[in-house]
Amino acid sequence: MAIVSPVQTAPGERRRLALASPATLERIGEIEVSSAEDVAAAVEVARKVQPDWGGLPVDERTRYMLRALEILLERQDEFIDVVLRETGKPRSEALMMEIFSACDSLNYYAKNAARILASEKKRLHGMMRLLKQLGVVYRPLGVVGVISPWNAPFILAMNPTVQALVAGNAVLLKPSEVTPFSGQLVAELFAAAGLPEGVLQVLLGDGETGAALCQAGVDKIAFTGSVDTGRKVAVACAQQLIPCTLELGGKDAMIVCADANLDHAASGAVAGAFMNTGQYCCGTERVYVAESVAQEFTRKVVERVSKLRQGVEGEFDIGAIFWPRQLEIIEEHMADARERGVVVLTGGRRNPDLAGLFYEPTVLTDVTHDMRIMREETFGPVLPIMGVKDEDEAVAMANDSVYGLGATVWTSDVGKGRRLAQRIQSGSVCLNDMTVTYALQEAPFGGLKHSGIGQVNGVTGLRGYCHAEPIIVDRFGGRRTADHYPYSIKADATRQKLMKILWGTALGRWLS
Ligand code: NAD
Repeated sequence: MAIVSPVQTAPGERRRLALASPATLERIGEIEVSSAEDVAAAVEVARKVQPDWGGLPVDERTRYMLRALEILLERQDEFIDVVLRETGKPRSEALMMEIFSACDSLNYYAKNAARILASEKKRLHGMMRLLKQLGVVYRPLGVVGVISPWNAPFILAMNPTVQALVAGNAVLLKPSEVTPFSGQLVAELFAAAGLPEGVLQVLLGDGETGAALCQAGVDKIAFTGSVDTGRKVAVACAQQLIPCTLELGGKDAMIVCADANLDHAASGAVAGAFMNTGQYCCGTERVYVAESVAQEFTRKVVERVSKLRQGVEGEFDIGAIFWPRQLEIIEEHMADARERGVVVLTGGRRNPDLAGLFYEPTVLTDVTHDMRIMREETFGPVLPIMGVKDEDEAVAMANDSVYGLGATVWTSDVGKGRRLAQRIQSGSVCLNDMTVTYALQEAPFGGLKHSGIGQVNGVTGLRGYCHAEPIIVDRFGGRRTADHYPYSIKADATRQKLMKILWGTALGRWLS
């Protein structure tokens, strides 16, 4: 059964989509798809209310974040239930990835936004300092469209929304059609926190609604999703001449050096590859391990994987694949790998004991770089392990990819780890840890190569929802403009002498 399927509607009726749980395949509800007209109407409302919202001092806007935080803490079980119903993830993952992270985001921006968005006085260089004063103010962009994916459906809708709101924008959020109810929770939360009406609106729907939002005259799109859709969003934003951030897919490499603590590395590989059933943008999708320790490392990984419990209810570690298309991709990659001679150490099939969309945690060896499983984003519970002769080969393999989102390096020599990190073409690198970058608001998060454009979170992210406006004041009250004309050869000669002193002498360069 499809997890998202069109509902038969009479001509002239709104399009509707029916949703089912990927874990139980039971129907969980349906949504109405917002049309281009709905999107246009929402933009109109947002435009009306944004000036008042953006005109509030930052501290007043952050009060709503603190109120939302209180409510989220109180009602977390209710929110977790919604996420579980439409994703089939383990409860601990809904709690940690979605709710814990959202609480941290709300508190971080409530606490730090006033400092990050405060007007700044900039010290000018050289003679300019004597002539002018420069200040920079951070003004909201206006109306921001947030388009989010299904894999972490609450936090990936919530975190950009919090930042865009705190920065003073009105937000139109378009959550994934695979997990619309978790996206809707964001609006419910802020409505309960008393956010002025219209400042945040959720537009449910599929790609058509997302495409309409990109064309609707908003001032920025914050997109998280696949490379293919990211390209379409980039084209639409280019046509509209609006900025966008694109947080796209990845094929994160893990490098295990010969001197790594193999117990820690094996546990890190298992957590990195199987958290969220592998449907994690920064999940570990391929391992390059030094040949001298490859056998021992692989044995430790398989030992840990064999203890993972897959299930639907109660306590379990591995959940469902969130929708059939992803399961198909996983199976296509596995079929290709099998054809090319992969060895399946564990898993490698749908779970025959569970009725929903479940794929067993899978560990592979004897992989080669021509396999799709090593080149394309699998986004499932599959961990391919490849032996390499040394760290140089590991870096070369890690960089042999169109993706560049995250990577991890495991070594007992942190200095060497840092040096390796700087050679890996990746948005971020974590040493002796799975990729945790998105959870650290201070870390600019974004991908290289096909993994995206721009960075989000923290100072970079919050200011990215603003226009940094320089305001320049002449120290002489404009009097000097009277000397602008007439131009003269004599005045030019004086200027040229001055230039020689300024940039033709060591003292001049130091002063300027
Ligand atoms: P997707 O690209 O299919 O959909 C993402 C969103 O875009 C959905 O809301 C969808 O309805 C909307 N959309 C579809 N067509 C559109 C169009 N033409 N214009 C505008 N919006 C449109 O991605 P997905 O399958 O939901 O998410 C999984 C992907 O997201 C994976 O590749 C994963 O790696 C990536 N991801 C990246 C990050 C990151 O931060 N880099 C985080 C999570 C997920």
